[in-house]
Amino acid sequence: MFDRLSGKLSGVFDGLSKRGALSVEDVNEAMREIRLAMLDADVALPVVKDFVKKVQEKSVGQEVLHNISPGQAIAKIVNDALIEALGGAGAVPLNLNAVPPIPYLMVGLQGSGKTTTSAKIAYYLNRRERKKVLLASLDTYRPAAQLQLEQLANQVKVTSLPVIEGQMPVQIAKRAMEVARLEGYDVVILDTAGRLSIDEALMEEVQNIRDVAKPAETLLVVDAMTGQDAVHTAKSFNEKVGITGVVMTRMDGDARGGAALSMRAITGAPIKLVGMGEKVDALQEFYPERVASRILGLGDIAGLVEKASETIDQEESERLAKKMLKGKFDLNDYAAQIGQINKMGSISNIMDMMPGMGKMKEKLGDKELDTSILKRHQAIISSMTKAERKQPAIIKASRKKRIASGSGSTVQEVNRLLKQYDQMASMMKRFNKLGVKGLMRQGLS
Ligand code: GDP
Repeated sequence: MFDRLSGKLSGVFDGLSKRGALSVEDVNEAMREIRLAMLDADVALPVVKDFVKKVQEKSVGQEVLHNISPGQAIAKIVNDALIEALGGAGAVPLNLNAVPPIPYLMVGLQGSGKTTTSAKIAYYLNRRERKKVLLASLDTYRPAAQLQLEQLANQVKVTSLPVIEGQMPVQIAKRAMEVARLEGYDVVILDTAGRLSIDEALMEEVQNIRDVAKPAETLLVVDAMTGQDAVHTAKSFNEKVGITGVVMTRMDGDARGGAALSMRAITGAPIKLVGMGEKVDALQEFYPERVASRILGLGDIAGLVEKASETIDQEESERLAKKMLKGKFDLNDYAAQIGQINKMGSISNIMDMMPGMGKMKEKLGDKELDTSILKRHQAIISSMTKAERKQPAIIKASRKKRIASGSGSTVQEVNRLLKQYDQMASMMKRFNKLGVKGLMRQGLS
């Protein structure tokens, strides 16, 4: 997601950063490139025009200020404009302020990820907000829909409303609210039926359910991969039913990002959450400032820290950090670190969040990002003796041969692992000498 846009925009800033002061032509040329980059990312034309106009107005007359080059100054202007286009800084939270049971209405086209997202939200509210959630499927058209929601509900350990054959959607909505009132649920998630495209019958049914359930949230689920179609779908649903927020799914795919950038301007509705995969925990809050940083290759440190603190064993990472700072980092620690990284998910997703890594990822291509390399390293380390792991320097030719055959790898692979370990160890020694302050200085320069 956003990879292409990110690559193209950083090209524009690199070009500008070499200049001392910007001429009108420089700015015009940069704006032309930004415009092309956004159109290529499938951002809606009126949004692109408005975006470029704003950036252009602010960019004219940018000079070298203190330590900031004109390229950096324009990057900052583009960053601000991106945040604005994405809906302004800060995530827009789900509404939990109404009197319980709070009804949430899930709407959208078939295949957008509505049912999966309903379960993801139930899981999210249950785990993060400690809410008691009831899931109810109102899809009486697709034969397996109600069963699908029931299975997902079991998976996330949330209750789903028992199915009564032959009951119509409006009746199911009434029953769900009644059960929720009697049994003290905080939130009721009503998963409505979708169609392949928007039609009158679909809208009418959703309106009827809305009038009965009086939802505190009407969340539209759209597939980011459908680009501008997602924005048109949102516009129609907003006009006909009124939506309070958008959940954009398949943000883990290679969509170009146009839908996310056009959504707020075209529909007025905020993107509240994004789906980042098929698993039930692959749901994230949408922070425009973090997304803008990612697009500009500045990384998403806040997101990375959050993800790490959710998945990584705190004690284990503190132990590793201490050893690293002392400059005592052996192959056991390296293996432990690989384990932690594996827990956080795909390397490519993690790299997206790291400053400057987006560009590097592009250069590496997909092959090098394969986590199987890390898994092989773990296998190689497990074929070493205790002494070898503690003191990798003793690993000479004959030991290398033994380790390679024990782990089903080659001597070259063992060499590569040792080289990587050496690099890490010497980097840590340097960190250790510099101390934390020195590190900060290095990071900033
Ligand atoms: P519905 O017809 O709108 O209810 O769609 P479903 O919830 O059945 O989802 C359709 C497919 O999309 C399923 O295979 C889901 O696992 C998948 N899906 C849903 N959300 C995401 C997401 O954020 N990322 C990815 N990669 N797949 C998703």
